[in-house]
Amino acid sequence: MKRRNIVAGNWKMNLTVAESRDLVSAVLAEIGAGFCGCEVGVAPNFVALAETAGALESSPLFLAAQNCHFENDGAYTGEVSARMLLAAGCSHVIIGHSERRQLFGETDAVVNRKVSKALQEGLKVILCVGETFDEREGGITGDVVTRQVRAGLGGIAGIADLVLAYEPVWAIGTGKTATSEQAQEVHALIRKTVGELYGAEAAEGLRIQYGGSVKPSNAAELFAMPDIDGGLIGGASLNAADFAAIVRAAC
Ligand code: PEP
Repeated sequence: MKRRNIVAGNWKMNLTVAESRDLVSAVLAEIGAGFCGCEVGVAPNFVALAETAGALESSPLFLAAQNCHFENDGAYTGEVSARMLLAAGCSHVIIGHSERRQLFGETDAVVNRKVSKALQEGLKVILCVGETFDEREGGITGDVVTRQVRAGLGGIAGIADLVLAYEPVWAIGTGKTATSEQAQEVHALIRKTVGELYGAEAAEGLRIQYGGSVKPSNAAELFAMPDIDGGLIGGASLNAADFAAIVRAAC
């Protein structure tokens, strides 16, 4: 049985509170009538979470944060904890995005601590993995992604509340998309790796999103691949009509 697709819009460091509220209203208006029951959510910046939560109330969309810390509270200036995100109305959090890894020095070990804490506090986690251009050119995509999956899930007892996102770094925000065959190959490897860790049944039930320049024009082909279960959408999620078209492709 095909898994239920999940599509999430990662708004990154964009939009004021008011702009976020306007975008979520536009998204709801665009996908409203044709909403098919695939799982859909948006991930605004921290300061826009509470307002966006209000705008999403009584809608089927989930609210995600883009990051969280691995402690509940304390002397961690500038950080936000899983507990705070839950209280602000989030059900999901994105962890290990390549921008966090590359620009903010998040190691596999830090990512693992965050995954562990977020799950423990009751958030659902979207864990991102993916290779850089040099790693792909060097023929080590499989090694890198397998390492990130194993390390990210280290010590995690179960994956019922977890979604993986395969996001080749060279395809994020660049306009370059992995071909559906390239993406499928890595998704199948991720599922195999998860099967080795948690067994075949758990791996079969795991949703694995693809992320990296997904657009209305390429979404359907990507989502049709057997191991691709929706998308994590950056740039295109800032346009309500484009995001809605991608959601429809996941129906
Ligand atoms: C992302 O940031 O997760 C992403 C996939 O971005 P884009 O769709 O813009 O490549």
